[in-house]
Amino acid sequence: MIVTEIIEKKRDGLELSPEEIAFMVNGLVNGEVQDPQMSAFMMAVCCRGMTEKETAALTLTMMDSGETADLSDLPGIKVDKHSTGGVGDTTTLVVAPLVAACGGTVAKMSGRGLAHSGGTLDKLESVPGVCVEQTMERFKEIVRRIGVAVIGQSANLVPADKKMYALRDVTGTVQSIPLIASSIMSKKLAAGADAIVLDVKTGNGAFMNTLEDSRMLAREMVKLGRNLGRSTIAIITDMNRPLGMAIGNGLEMKEAVEVLTGKVPVSDPLVEVCMILGSHMLMLSGLANNDAEAREKLLCALRSGAGYDKLREMLIALGGDPLYADEPERLVKVDRLIPVYPDSEGYFGFIDAKKLGIAAALLGAGRFKKSDPIDPAVGILMKKRYGDAAGFNEPYAYIYVNNEDRLEEALSLVKEAVVVTAEPPEKLPLVYDIIK
Ligand code: URA
Ligand code: CA
Repeated sequence: MIVTEIIEKKRDGLELSPEEIAFMVNGLVNGEVQDPQMSAFMMAVCCRGMTEKETAALTLTMMDSGETADLSDLPGIKVDKHSTGGVGDTTTLVVAPLVAACGGTVAKMSGRGLAHSGGTLDKLESVPGVCVEQTMERFKEIVRRIGVAVIGQSANLVPADKKMYALRDVTGTVQSIPLIASSIMSKKLAAGADAIVLDVKTGNGAFMNTLEDSRMLAREMVKLGRNLGRSTIAIITDMNRPLGMAIGNGLEMKEAVEVLTGKVPVSDPLVEVCMILGSHMLMLSGLANNDAEAREKLLCALRSGAGYDKLREMLIALGGDPLYADEPERLVKVDRLIPVYPDSEGYFGFIDAKKLGIAAALLGAGRFKKSDPIDPAVGILMKKRYGDAAGFNEPYAYIYVNNEDRLEEALSLVKEAVVVTAEPPEKLPLVYDIIK
């Protein structure tokens, strides 16, 4: 096979065979296909799309590019969840311990923040001492003992995605349904869970901005999971505003602790999305027969503090200092706290999640290059939500600052991110669809 012919075939909109796709992916990993060739190929995929058969072949060949986890010696149904990436999206830190407290077995490998969206590993590492790089044996030992472990993907899990993702990030080829679906599902499938609950975000702060694209992505991923014998379900949830109030690693860990210690009302959107995801995780695990039963169990684990205990145990197992969970204020000690006020009175009619995510990253909560250091304490704490009344004397956000190098830029984005309207805006749904 000839690399340029495969690229040209995709460029011209023809369907590739599984062998041709494997040739490209394996070639990238073993050095026979060069970075610019793979980049051109992926741009052709962005423009021409892929058939269902092609996406399946791409996902399988990516999955098989490295080692895969075998969790079969762990008891029960192993359940995983995954968010396609959002802002203020702290669900894993809440729902993984809650599901474990209800008897579930949550074995999850997470990723880091990417551009404007946060990553669970960075949030976990806001707790001093936490090490997210664990051996497979240790990972399983924690899951067996506590019922939940969230760790980083091992270096050899889907190496093809590591290379492809790094190229996509710098060649304008992130936003493609077959490329996102194969990237996410190759990793989920390689991580070995029996059941997968996908939280597909839709809106201005998501990788998929329209509901139609989000639905297509969700359908694609559910099919990929099912075809490999994993029970898979996707919930399409809103990302036209930050989900929680906290944007930043320590701030989000603190928010998760506050949810799990009952300091956040259950009517809160973050809690509600956690309940929906947790409910499906319990149902797929065979631990609840219906949504009502699942929610009852989750609420019980929340109110009793059993969910919080699981988070605390997991942090300790990962090497973390539990004092920071018990006194989460310690996570967010910064040099300066800056309140931000609205320019006019009325209602918060629009809140741009993506701009807030970028602002938090500029403050040091995220990365623009892979090597950028993270400051766990900095970020943005929202005080107002979409639809709330805006008053001149009421800050809608506090900015947590240490390094002031890019503060002006961040501050402008936090200001640009909100639009105050004279009338209250229309309510936004939290959940748009469930794809089974
Ligand atoms: N998350 C991933 O892991 N891959 C993508 O392509 C997008 C989001
Ligand atoms: Ca986030």
